[in-house]
Amino acid sequence: MSEIVKKYCNSLTEYSRYKTREVKIGDVPLGGNNPIRIQSMTITDTMNTIATVEQTIRMVESGCEYVRITAPSMNEARNLENIKKELRARSYTVPLIADIHFTPNAAELAARIVEKVRINPGNYVDKKKFEQFEYTDLEYQEELDRIRERFTPLVKVCKEYGTAMRIGTNHGSLSDRIMNRFGDTPLGMVESALEFVRICEDLDYYSIVLSMKASNPQVMVQAYRLLIQKMEEEGMNYPIHLGVTEAGGGEDGRIKSAVGIGALLEDGIGDTIRVSLTEDPEYEAPVAISLANRYQNRINHGPIKSITEIPIDPISYKRRETFEIFGIGGPSVPVVVADYSSRNIAAQKDLNDIGYKYDEPSDKWYLADAAADIIYLGKQNISFTLPENLKLIIDYDEWIKLDSKKLRYPLFHKDEYLRSKTFSGQINFLAIKISDFDEELSKKIKLDEKLVLVIETDNEHGMAEQRRFFFELINRKIKNPVIIKRDYQNISLDEVRLYSSTDFGGLLIDGLGDGVWLTTEIKKSESEKSSKLTFVKESNQKFINRTLFGILQATRTRISKTEYIACPSCGRTLFDLQETTEMIRKRTEHLKGVKIAIMGCIVNGPGEMADADYGYVGSGVDKITLYKGKDIIKRSVPSSQAVDELIGLIKEDGNWTERPGNDDF
Ligand code: SF4
Repeated sequence: MSEIVKKYCNSLTEYSRYKTREVKIGDVPLGGNNPIRIQSMTITDTMNTIATVEQTIRMVESGCEYVRITAPSMNEARNLENIKKELRARSYTVPLIADIHFTPNAAELAARIVEKVRINPGNYVDKKKFEQFEYTDLEYQEELDRIRERFTPLVKVCKEYGTAMRIGTNHGSLSDRIMNRFGDTPLGMVESALEFVRICEDLDYYSIVLSMKASNPQVMVQAYRLLIQKMEEEGMNYPIHLGVTEAGGGEDGRIKSAVGIGALLEDGIGDTIRVSLTEDPEYEAPVAISLANRYQNRINHGPIKSITEIPIDPISYKRRETFEIFGIGGPSVPVVVADYSSRNIAAQKDLNDIGYKYDEPSDKWYLADAAADIIYLGKQNISFTLPENLKLIIDYDEWIKLDSKKLRYPLFHKDEYLRSKTFSGQINFLAIKISDFDEELSKKIKLDEKLVLVIETDNEHGMAEQRRFFFELINRKIKNPVIIKRDYQNISLDEVRLYSSTDFGGLLIDGLGDGVWLTTEIKKSESEKSSKLTFVKESNQKFINRTLFGILQATRTRISKTEYIACPSCGRTLFDLQETTEMIRKRTEHLKGVKIAIMGCIVNGPGEMADADYGYVGSGVDKITLYKGKDIIKRSVPSSQAVDELIGLIKEDGNWTERPGNDDF
C-alpha cells in the first residue's frame, strides 16, 4: 500500500504542504508556495450593493482574502459590477468570487466582472431530481457532450478575462447522472469535478481550483484524499479549497469544521479554507485562521519514524479491530475519560459537569446522554458510592494500597507495568508514548487481554505520531483497545476546541481509537473576547466533556445528541437562518440521533441537506417546505407555524421523546 501514502499526501509522518500549481486570483495568488488563504461568503442580498459591500469589508477586516458572493440570476451577476466598483472606490481590492448554481448565463456574465467564478458540477448543466435511471455508455457520453457544449462558453470567457474558476463538488448535490453511475460516494464526488476539469484542459484552461465538500467530515476527508490520488493519476495538480458544508454554528459548527478541515491540513493538504458557520460571515475567518496558523512552523516537528506501508484504507472507513474489555474497544462506542486528577471530588454534585446528577431523596443517579464513562483520579479516591457504569482509574502506586478496589482500576507507566506482579482482574490501563514501545513491551501487551492502552504524545505533529503508533499496533497484530490522550497548555479555549477536534477527529475518522481523554487549563485569551461564542464561566471538566462528545458526534463514532445540518445562508436565504436554527434547536436538542436540516432556499437546500431525517427549507417569503428525508411532506407552510409542524412530523414518525426533567447538567 506504499503507493497510497505517496498519492494522497507527501508523507504521513513528516509534515509538508502538498504542492499544487499556482493560480492567479486577482492579486492574491493561490496554491504553489503561497500561504493557506482564508475566504468566506456574504449572506446579504446581492442586489443590495451597499449592504454587500459593507459586509465584504467586515469580512476583509476579519481576515478574509477572497470574498464569495452569490449570483443566482443575471440581475445579481450584473450587480457584481456595482459591488466591485464601490469596493474599489473604498480602496478594497479583495478578489471577488461569484457563486453560481444552475445558471450558465449568469456565470458567463459574472466571469467578465469578478476574479473567480465557482460552479457546482452537480447542477451547472446536470439535473438533480432524485430519479433512478440506468445510463448506457452511449447515453452517458451524450450527456457529457451536452455538458461540454454548455460549459465551453464559460471556459472561453474565463480564459479571455483571466478569471479563475472553482469546480466545487458538494456531496449533497451530485447530479442524477453521477449518482446513478457512481453512487453517493467519494468517487462520485471526484468524478463529478474531473469531468469538468478534463473539458477545461482540452480547452487549454488551467486556472482551476477544486473542492469536495460534504457535511459529514468522514466523507469529506475521503473525497479530498481520493481527489489527490486521481489528480496524480491524471497528471493534475490544482489547488485545493477545503470546507465542511452545512456545519451549523456555535461549538458544534466549529468542531465539525475542524474535524474535516484539520484532518486534511495535518497531512499538508489544502491551499485555501472556508469555514461555513450559521453565523455572520465575519465570524468564520478567525476560525479558519486559527486552523491554518497551526501549521506555520509544523515543519520543525520532532522526528516520527517513517512508514512505507499503511495498514488502513484512507478512502473507506473501517474501525481498527480490537477486543473488548469491560465496555472498551470491540463494538463499543468510544469511551470518554474525565480527568479529575487536579480537582478534588468532595460530593456527588461535583460530577454534574460530566453528566451525572445525584438525587438524594431517592438515592438515585441520573445520567445525561453525554455522560463520561471513566474518571481519572490520579492519586485521589472517592468516598461515596458511584453509579455502576462509571469506572475509576487511579495511579498504580496508590491503587495498590487500596483496601477496596471495587470499580477502581490501575493506570501503569511502562516500568511499573513491566515489573508489577499485581494487576486488576478486570481491566488495567497503561499510559504509553511511542518512544516507550519496544519488543519486550510489545510482547507483553499482545498477550494481555485485560490491558487498555492510553497513548500520549508531546510531538508537535502529535496526530501523525499517534497515528504512527496505531499503525505499529496494527502491523504487530496487537488488538488491545486504545484511548487517545492529548494535553493542551497555554492556548486559548477556542484553540483547544479546534486543535482537539483536529487531533482526535483525524484519528477517529480513520477508525482509530476506542476512547478519548483530554486535559487542558482554561485560559481566557484576547482572541476569545472577539469570538462569536459567549462563554459562561464553567469548569474545565464541563468544557472538556462537551468538546469530547462533540468530536465523537462530528466523527459519527458516538451519537449523543440531535444533529443539525444548517446551511451558512447567503443572498438566496429567505428567512433569518440563525434565529430559526436557534429556535428549532431549543425545542429539539434532546432528540438524540435525529438529524434535522435547516436550509435557506429551495433551489439548493434539498440537494445539499445530505442525509438529514427532516428538512426545514425556505421556499418563498414567509413560506417553508418541510421534508422527510428527500420527500416533500408539506409545502408553503407559513413560518409562524412551521416549527410546530416540523415537530408534529417528528411525532407522527414516533421519533419524538419528551425532554427529560433532569436535563440541567
Ligand atoms: S442552501 Fe443556503 S447557502 Fe446554499 S444557496 Fe440556499 S440559502 Fe444559500
